[in-house]
Amino acid sequence: MSLLPLCTIEKLTVSYHRATQPALNGISLSLFANRRLAIIGESGSGKSTLARRLAGLLPRDAISSGRIDWNSAPPRQGRDIGYVFQDPGASLNPVLTIGEQVAEGAVRHLGLSWKQGLAHARDLLEQVHLPHPSLLLKAYPHQLSGGQRQRVAIAAAISASPKILIADEATSALDTITQAAIASLLDSLVRENGMTLIFITHDIALASSLADDIAVLKSGRLVEWGEASTLLSDPTHSYTKTLIAAHLDLSTPPLIEGAR
Ligand code: ADP
Repeated sequence: MSLLPLCTIEKLTVSYHRATQPALNGISLSLFANRRLAIIGESGSGKSTLARRLAGLLPRDAISSGRIDWNSAPPRQGRDIGYVFQDPGASLNPVLTIGEQVAEGAVRHLGLSWKQGLAHARDLLEQVHLPHPSLLLKAYPHQLSGGQRQRVAIAAAISASPKILIADEATSALDTITQAAIASLLDSLVRENGMTLIFITHDIALASSLADDIAVLKSGRLVEWGEASTLLSDPTHSYTKTLIAAHLDLSTPPLIEGAR
């Protein structure tokens, strides 16, 4: 790949306190501006650990070694990388209004007043295609469906206009139709806002629909990494071949029309 990397990760190893094996073991790869990277692999393979390390969200007792070299200034925590978690019910605060939660990033990091922040939140709710955004500002998370809550979590994640958006199994807890809608939303948001997307999933069909590049993790090691179309049509590692054979029927239409 001859693109300019946003950051280069070299021999990254992460171990959690008291764990017998490192969660990540000597990972080297690059992240490219304005591209969509899917990180795939079985549960426990280290996908979230890699994303959390990039976002500065590892627990304090995790020990990390290796290098992450950013091409420009390193990202500021909470501002330059937006993070969307699997369960919006857990990531949204039940006692704060939707408006407060979506406005917070912009108020804290962009210097907006709360009044300006709420106007910004209203625009973001519209951008994530939620109906009646002005009314929603005053609503609470429990008043929304799972898919709507995930749209709110995405709006909150992009509130401070991050350069990178990480979606960590962000569609896994949703039904199939909502999953496709959220994946399509993420895709259009990163294109419209010029963001880099890191999309963590165990769903290869989703990765094939959404990703420009794919990194395959197995037991904390990077077994394969490259352009999605090449990797999926001509995988070199036996583990990738097994994953594809087990999960992806390439004859089925992509989840996002025209995206494969
Ligand atoms: P994935 O996202 O692929 O499911 P994770 O990065 O969550 O994988 O986990 C990788 C390994 O690290 C697993 O063995 C998991 O049990 C362990 N792990 C993850 N988070 C913690 C933590 N906070 N403390 C201890 N071990 C952890």
